[in-house]
Amino acid sequence: MAKAKWSALPTQTLRAGEGFSLADFDASATPGWSAGKAAAEKFMAARGELLSELQERFFANAKEGDPRKLLLVVQGLDTAGKGGIARHVLGMVDPQGVQLASFGVPTEEERAHHYLWRIERALPTPGKIGLFDRSHYEDVLVVRVENLVPQDVWEPRYEEINAWERNLVENENFTIIKVALMPSHAEQSVRLAERLARRDKWWKYNPSDVDTREKWPDYLEAYQAVLDRTSTDVAPWYVVPADHKWYARLAVTELLTQALIGFEQEWPVPEWDLTTEKKRLRSTMTKEERKATQAALDGTKKKVKGAIADFEKAVAKAVKGR
Ligand code: AMP
Ligand code: MG
Repeated sequence: MAKAKWSALPTQTLRAGEGFSLADFDASATPGWSAGKAAAEKFMAARGELLSELQERFFANAKEGDPRKLLLVVQGLDTAGKGGIARHVLGMVDPQGVQLASFGVPTEEERAHHYLWRIERALPTPGKIGLFDRSHYEDVLVVRVENLVPQDVWEPRYEEINAWERNLVENENFTIIKVALMPSHAEQSVRLAERLARRDKWWKYNPSDVDTREKWPDYLEAYQAVLDRTSTDVAPWYVVPADHKWYARLAVTELLTQALIGFEQEWPVPEWDLTTEKKRLRSTMTKEERKATQAALDGTKKKVKGAIADFEKAVAKAVKGR
């Protein structure tokens, strides 16, 4: 059987453009992927290896002064699978390369500042993938639905957020990917019921989840406004059908991988001289150490060479296929 792959990439199929309507959204769809769950999981594992390598290149280049930064904003209602993205997608890369920030109800200190204050402080540094589990968008979602501030306060925030994000992209070397995970009302009922049914899920449950669920149409309206007003060229929204967790994870993995592929980063070239350093190191070895080192290198050389060749091929293919 031929290897399963995307028929169309999430960068194209999931982008929220003009005329996008949440009311017509099918949360159980799997755009661009018809091969099903098992194939998706296999593909995702391979993609994860590529993602991990690209992330390491990103990190290595940042050490050499490349100023680029990558931010993944993840929004979604309760049970949408935000935690699963952190665990299963970002879990595939070196934890040193990830900067995770979760945004809950603002603390007293946070409330004393502008709503973007706590967000700014959590922005990732170069070479790290910044992951926001909820974000400044809560300030036009929960805040709007629950009337936490009057409309004349939240209304100007859409434009303010657009300008703020634009500045990050145009002047601060950011790439911003915004993901809205959208499960159906029916799927949410299953997931909330599961949380209540399982001792090990109780910690995730909050009685307020049901209050939020009761306001589903209001939240849809607030999400629609976010997508209508803040899906910009510089920081687009991708709306991910989230009834199938495997699909949501696969899609977000691909969005991240494509962003890093787009950076087109080689391994940095060292400033030191390779021949000189090899000689210097060798001069510190005893005779026995030289012998043992040579034997170890002979053993790994072929393996490393093969792995690098495979990886270069995978990157070249990925670049071609995007
Ligand atoms: P969880 O993600 O389940 O830990 O829940 C975090 C909670 O914090 C959610 O109910 C959010 O709606 C709430 N939250 C996040 N940001 C804000 C905000 N700016 N204002 C009010 N509530 C917020
Ligand atoms: Mg919750």
